Amino acid sequence: MIVMKFGGTSMGDAECIRNRVGEIVLDAVEKGKEPVVVVSAVGGVTNLLLSAAEAAIQRKPEQARALVEDIAKRHLDVLEKAVKQTRFALDASSYITEILEDLSVFLKAIGVVGELTPRSYDIVLAVGEKLSARILTAVLEDRGYPAEFISLDQVIVGEFGADSENYWPKVQDFFKSRLKNVREGAVPVLTGFFGPTPNGILKSVGRGYSDFCASLAGAVREAEEIQIWTDVDGVATANPTKVSDARILERMSFGEMAELSHFGAKVLHPQSVWPALKANIPIRILNTFHPQAQGTLIVDETVEANQPFKSIAYKKDITVIRICSYGMLMAAGFMAKVCERFGSYGISIDLISTSEVSVSLSVCEKPSEIEPLLNDLRKFGSVDVASDLSIICLVGAEIQRNESIFGKVFEALRRKGIEVKMISMGDLRINLSLVVDNSNCDDVVRLLHQSFFAE
Ligand code: ASP
Ligand code: MG
Repeated sequence: MIVMKFGGTSMGDAECIRNRVGEIVLDAVEKGKEPVVVVSAVGGVTNLLLSAAEAAIQRKPEQARALVEDIAKRHLDVLEKAVKQTRFALDASSYITEILEDLSVFLKAIGVVGELTPRSYDIVLAVGEKLSARILTAVLEDRGYPAEFISLDQVIVGEFGADSENYWPKVQDFFKSRLKNVREGAVPVLTGFFGPTPNGILKSVGRGYSDFCASLAGAVREAEEIQIWTDVDGVATANPTKVSDARILERMSFGEMAELSHFGAKVLHPQSVWPALKANIPIRILNTFHPQAQGTLIVDETVEANQPFKSIAYKKDITVIRICSYGMLMAAGFMAKVCERFGSYGISIDLISTSEVSVSLSVCEKPSEIEPLLNDLRKFGSVDVASDLSIICLVGAEIQRNESIFGKVFEALRRKGIEVKMISMGDLRINLSLVVDNSNCDDVVRLLHQSFFAE
């Protein structure tokens, strides 16, 4: 059994859904792979839904209505082109109409109540994946294969209580029981949205949540492999839109993938790593538009390739906070108190680097978004804030063996006169992170890729 997740571009239009996704799924069925399919919303639809919710809360009902009409038109067009037999098309179109009527009513209520809670966002967002999954189900049936549409928008009903820790195991239990009841021989088509979640899916998981859904589904079913079908051939040595000669990696470890996706690689949602890792199920990144490519396999073992490191990722617009304090000298527990302050404001720290009297910490937020935290930190000592910075992260198990890597990195930057504001190396020695000005970010990525990967 395998899990196959298709992203927004793969679900982009009728042609893609019927001829690409349909073909790939049916090929897996015929090869006896017993696929469980997970889909994202049709490309762009999640953004339209978010705009509709914003319009509703801003009391712009006309705008909200126009957006819902646009969503309806897009899906009904796709359905008409992708499904030939009327009986399958009719069932799906009445579902689409009904869901969008409910959405209109809900958006009106948001305007009346004047409240857009995380739970309301979840209800609105769920629509995207319900529509795309319903269409793909009809496409598979239309092509002569039994399929079962499964909406995960009611995974946990009622309150979560204060204890959201128990939430993910509960979700997995739900997935397990729901998948057990699938009709014999039918291909389950799951909505990549699963919820409602504590604090809302945008906060608890974030955009790209359907990757995480696929990983949860794969873990509960003990899949052979979790396939993430996207629009690139796999994980590359750098972002191919910035570095034209970036190459695709054949294999990498979960740890490396976690670092890369956290530091900006978009191919996989960072949270998707843990359910797969815990259940020891490999994840493979594949290209819907080039299915013959073998993709990148992510496994639970150290992978040492014959190259200086695996890949360079970057994250722009970060802020570095430096706290300088003589109170730190020989003081046990100082760091714990500082970190506790960040936690209490819900701000997560990416990099830390320390000396005896100073500590520098990087965060994603802009200084204006964290003023209360900054004021609070001043009680520890003097606080300097530098913004408009980028983290550049070299990732790979090879780093720990490659003694010359540091020299080469700093020499390349020195030659170009690029200043490094902060450095951090994880203890696992699979990543080396540098902080530079935003304005230098793209150049540094290209420069480092060129220095290490040029033939
Ligand atoms: N459609 C959702 C989003 O854009 C979920 C996903 O693509 O995985 O975030
Ligand atoms: Mg994605």
